[in-house]
Amino acid sequence: MAVPLLSLDQQNAALESQLTEAFQRVLHSGRFILGPEVENFENETAEALQVKHAIGVSSGTDAILMALMALDIGPGDEVICPSFTFFATAGCIARTGATPVFADSCPVCFNLSLKDFEKRITPRTKALIPVHLFGQAAEMEGIMELARSHNLAVIEDAAQSLGARYRERPVGTIGDFGTFSFFPSKNLGGFGDGGLLVTNDDALAATAVALRAHGASRKYFNERVGGNFRLDALQAALLRVKFPSLESYARARAGNAAYYIEKLSALPGVQQNDPALCDCPLSAQPSADPEARIILPVAYPHNTHIWNQFTLRVPSGRDALREHLQTSGIGSEIYYPRPMHRQECFANLEMDRDSLPVADRLAAESLSIPIYPELTQTQLAEVVDAIRTWLVSTQS
Ligand SMILES: *Cc1c(COP(=O)(O)O)cnc(C)c1O
Repeated sequence: MAVPLLSLDQQNAALESQLTEAFQRVLHSGRFILGPEVENFENETAEALQVKHAIGVSSGTDAILMALMALDIGPGDEVICPSFTFFATAGCIARTGATPVFADSCPVCFNLSLKDFEKRITPRTKALIPVHLFGQAAEMEGIMELARSHNLAVIEDAAQSLGARYRERPVGTIGDFGTFSFFPSKNLGGFGDGGLLVTNDDALAATAVALRAHGASRKYFNERVGGNFRLDALQAALLRVKFPSLESYARARAGNAAYYIEKLSALPGVQQNDPALCDCPLSAQPSADPEARIILPVAYPHNTHIWNQFTLRVPSGRDALREHLQTSGIGSEIYYPRPMHRQECFANLEMDRDSLPVADRLAAESLSIPIYPELTQTQLAEVVDAIRTWLVSTQS
């Protein structure tokens, strides 16, 4: 039986009649952009996230761009983000005319290295973008402290982490802005592009709402230059059908993660990273046993991890393992094969490209395996078996 990396059919089929009903409701309403469906979706997400303002937008990427625009970030400014992230985080900084500054990551949790973020602050720094990668919160206490002491704005890129918590607080609601994505592979996967921008700041929310419609809070009277960052009514209506299931999806993912951790950690050469070695709380330590062949991801006890990805580190032979899985009919993906500081489009940025060793290592070692909620016990066991076979057959 094949195990795809992700299978959306099952999840959506379970809700087919409600989805069809939502489609018909929009069809007959004649309101296709913003309107009551979007407003209801905004209210429902704001309440669940315990945040004052939730603004439905066209994508997770546009949510980041709008946050930067609302904070008036532009030419001459610097914004720090992790190098090991999805491109959108860095791309949006560059699109405002500001300079993206890339920081290194923690080898244990894949999130930002607080120590390296701090090192890269200059008098031109205006904002920090922590990314809650793979479904787990970055070290927000440290980031907020850093931001306060240097008077910097914080945009949480929570595209992969809707529903995750950091010390009980929903991620995305701690900084000045939080951004979410409904790209189909995220935990709340939509039916096309969509995103959400959240904030507790009334003035920033008003600015963002204006930016969403060309910077005009009153139609045809443009106070600033915005864009078309609106969410479709149809997208909102369909997302409203799936949103109540988000927690159960996360629970199923966590169950799958627990299974992998139990079964995989029993295999020779597999080890779980030691949270004590985490680079986040300002202690730089090398991670894991150099002998380890596969290193399992860690969920910190103070976090609620929503497991958007289950990402292994394979210090040697990552591509060989990926090939073996493929031959066994098991999907996997490399998130992300090239860190931002090595992207061609950023080749003009002046920086020391050898100063991000962890980002380079994670790009060379990371491999995400299927974790989606609808995986069966048989499929999970198949994944573990395939990894066992690879370990045994390639043992030196
Ligand atoms: C998916 C993602 C985005 C962009 O979201 P889109 O909705 O695809 O534009 C931004 N940042 C991260 C970390 C992501 O994973």
